[in-house]
Amino acid sequence: MPTTRDYYEILSIDKTADGEEVKRSYRRLAMKYHPDRNPGDADAEAKFKECAEAYEVLSDDSKRKIYDQYGHDGLRGRGGPATHDFSRMDVSDIFSMFNDIFGGGGGGGFGGRGQGRGGRGGQARGYDLETEVEITLNEVLIGCEHDVEFTRLDICETCTGTGAKPGSKPIKCNTCGGQGKVQQTGLGGMFRMVTACPHCGGRGTIIKDHCPDCRGKGRIPKPRKLSVKIPPGIQDGQAVRVQGEGEPPPPEASPSGLGARGDLHVVVRVAEHDFYKREGDHLIMEMPITFTQAALGAKLQVPTLDGRHDLTITRGTQHGNIYKIDDQGLPNLRSSRRGHLHVIVKIEIPKKMTAKQEKLLREFAETEDQAVLPENQSFWKKISDLFAS
Ligand SMILES: [Zn+2]
Ligand SMILES: [Zn+2]
Repeated sequence: MPTTRDYYEILSIDKTADGEEVKRSYRRLAMKYHPDRNPGDADAEAKFKECAEAYEVLSDDSKRKIYDQYGHDGLRGRGGPATHDFSRMDVSDIFSMFNDIFGGGGGGGFGGRGQGRGGRGGQARGYDLETEVEITLNEVLIGCEHDVEFTRLDICETCTGTGAKPGSKPIKCNTCGGQGKVQQTGLGGMFRMVTACPHCGGRGTIIKDHCPDCRGKGRIPKPRKLSVKIPPGIQDGQAVRVQGEGEPPPPEASPSGLGARGDLHVVVRVAEHDFYKREGDHLIMEMPITFTQAALGAKLQVPTLDGRHDLTITRGTQHGNIYKIDDQGLPNLRSSRRGHLHVIVKIEIPKKMTAKQEKLLREFAETEDQAVLPENQSFWKKISDLFAS
């Protein structure tokens, strides 16, 4: 059964997310929930399929439009666009369907439906992985180093990646003669196509005695911990690429794992700050001042990310006026030039006054010739109580 959950929620993206964000989120989640990385975990497999369904719809402009307008029903109704029921599909088929976005040039997918045996420049290359790290605005200011933990498919040490039980060797596949590919003819010989050998899954070899540790896969999921340097000025959603920390080439491309590993992309999330909002390299904050400070002017100290800054409020400042403090924003990722801090003034009216303050303010009101409520409010209170009952 197709999912009933919201596609945007499944990929944890906003409704406004662009194609690149849809792709990136799907890539991260598909790698996370891929059954090879979560052996025997039915929940992960269900999530993997759900993500594929969401990606199929949200990555296609016309399907996405229908979904935005009519929801799941719009897609499943009669005359709707063709979508797959991923819950009934094979994991390896799903993976190779969207294989182009996984960055690996090594093979055509985990299921061995590989088309290519070589990656960039003929060399086998493993899949890229993606993980996330959350940092604070203060860390954006000065840069930081963070530990990241992730799981990747690594070469099984027991069989050195061949998948064969130690002491035994993979033998040549008879169906394809060791080529990994077979030719099929369709429609009475009208066309021919070369596909991955169904018998050996494209490897060209067959394993008689499976390695007990990886059960013949040649790869096992392994946890990995790394320290990653994050440069000052990084924006929310940007990624730091750690070269060569992805996966080794998949077994059908290179059983022994020879070739280049994929990369690890560490997507940086910047946590919301209590005071500051970020806009590019600039920071924006709201600062409360009293109505007398606004009217008469004042010298204040504004908290900045790395200290305090003197600010002069001019006489007659209005609610919502903005003061700009140069170079107290965040450093630019490339130029390291700092942005500005914008201070939005919020004028606060006192809720309580002393008798003396009230007396002075009443005198002030008289000079303005404006109508104000009488001092004793008990009369008005009685009236409003009457209406409230
Ligand atoms: Zn093994
Ligand atoms: Zn074969």
